[in-house]
Amino acid sequence: MSRYELVAGLETHVELATKTKIFCGCSTEFGGEPNTHCCPVCIGLPGTLPVLNRKVVEYAVRAGLVTHCEIAGVSKMDRKNYVYPDLPKAYQISQYDMPLCKNGYIDLSNGRRIRILRIHIEEDAGKLVHSRGNTYVDYNRGGVPLIEIVTEPDFRSPEEAREYLERLQFLMRYIGVSDCRMEEGSMRCDVNISVRPAGSEALGTRAEIKNMNSLSFITKAIAYEYDRQCDLLDSGEEVVQETRRYIESDGTTEGMRGKEDAQDYRYFPEPDLVTIRISKEDVEKIRASLPEDPDARAKRWQESFGISEADSAQLLRYRRVADYFDEAAKGLKNAKAAASCILGQMFRRMETEADKEKFETRVSAENLHALLQLLDEGKVRMNLVKSTLEKMLDSGKPASDFLSAQDLEGVSPEELDRLCTQAVEQNPKAVADYLAGKEKAVKSLVGFVMKSTRGRADAQKAEALLIDKIKAQA
Ligand code: ADP
Ligand code: ZN
Ligand code: MG
Repeated sequence: MSRYELVAGLETHVELATKTKIFCGCSTEFGGEPNTHCCPVCIGLPGTLPVLNRKVVEYAVRAGLVTHCEIAGVSKMDRKNYVYPDLPKAYQISQYDMPLCKNGYIDLSNGRRIRILRIHIEEDAGKLVHSRGNTYVDYNRGGVPLIEIVTEPDFRSPEEAREYLERLQFLMRYIGVSDCRMEEGSMRCDVNISVRPAGSEALGTRAEIKNMNSLSFITKAIAYEYDRQCDLLDSGEEVVQETRRYIESDGTTEGMRGKEDAQDYRYFPEPDLVTIRISKEDVEKIRASLPEDPDARAKRWQESFGISEADSAQLLRYRRVADYFDEAAKGLKNAKAAASCILGQMFRRMETEADKEKFETRVSAENLHALLQLLDEGKVRMNLVKSTLEKMLDSGKPASDFLSAQDLEGVSPEELDRLCTQAVEQNPKAVADYLAGKEKAVKSLVGFVMKSTRGRADAQKAEALLIDKIKAQA
């Protein structure tokens, strides 16, 4: 046991996936030629006036609800003043003392609860681009809506921070408010870390590492800071409250500047915007529009469909996949077959995570359902389902285009009997092997029968019948 306990809190910025910016009609799309998604409002020309985008409030409320927050009936925007070239107005419009959401939480798999202090809305700043000794500024990102999700200092290990962030990322994607792409900066984190003697209740002095955008860097930075601060205390020195930078090349951190206080920002109420009022009915409307709670959904799949925990986690990972699965599996006896088609054959055609997230497939959920309905009714077997699904995936056509009346009839007992007799007669070696104790040899005979029926026969019945016939011959 270490003498010091790690204490960390996270401030996470998530860019909202609204079509337009928070205070003007410019596009929020990532990338694009520098300074092309801009207008007088979002480059902060004097005399322009911001108008709050209603969708931003709605998305932030969704985020608040899915993290169990209370939604404030009344909140307001404030100016946070600072001078830096990424912020042409010299102030950021944010929320100070009346955030939209507060007192939520996210539970971790080890049973610990991470409390969320607040979620507020604000505008993103522009981006500085350093190139060949020059610095350029791109305001495309300026005015893109953000939510900032602030936790209590509840993390006790780097792994807890990682799990929380993965969960947050999943939830935001699931409710459709953000793509949370850390590599594109649509999810970024400020990490606050301190240590204290084990058993102590008081908080130690913290360091803050700003603007982290990789899960592995975040966990490494927390681990490094923990060691650094423990070493300082052990050698009788003190931790200084400051803003530090993570250095990717060697996994260390270095001091950048003293940490600013709220009073450094001279917050005051934004005079150009009105108070935000959200009625209880509005909140309930938004709550009703949220997708089924993800944990409840996974549990429903496990209990009523018999899907494994691992498979339900896979299906739930991407919202489109989850919705597609529910649509395809609805009313099927064998819903597991739908899961296996999606996770097997359909996912195999999607190489990247992004492909799976988009889940573009030529087979509609309705057509997959119709195919699996035939399986439920015993008209086709799984191997025929698979080969038919491949053709459907290639062509986008329904199963009925590929299954003949003969396919759907199945194999009559007489025909099966005849084919098994034929299999035994034409494969003396396999028969001899079987009789010599190689039980697996019968599989090649089953294969013969399946091939001659194009997969229509019941493999289990065929196997039993073949064994009878071999034994009768011996
Ligand atoms: P600021 O916005 O100035 O960084 P806040 O007091 O709002 O400061 O805290 C920001 C984050 O820092 C929160 O997530 C909070 O839980 C965390 N935090 C505050 N004090 C400590 C501490 N002593 N050790 C670790 N984390 C802390
Ligand atoms: Zn604009
Ligand atoms: Mg901070």
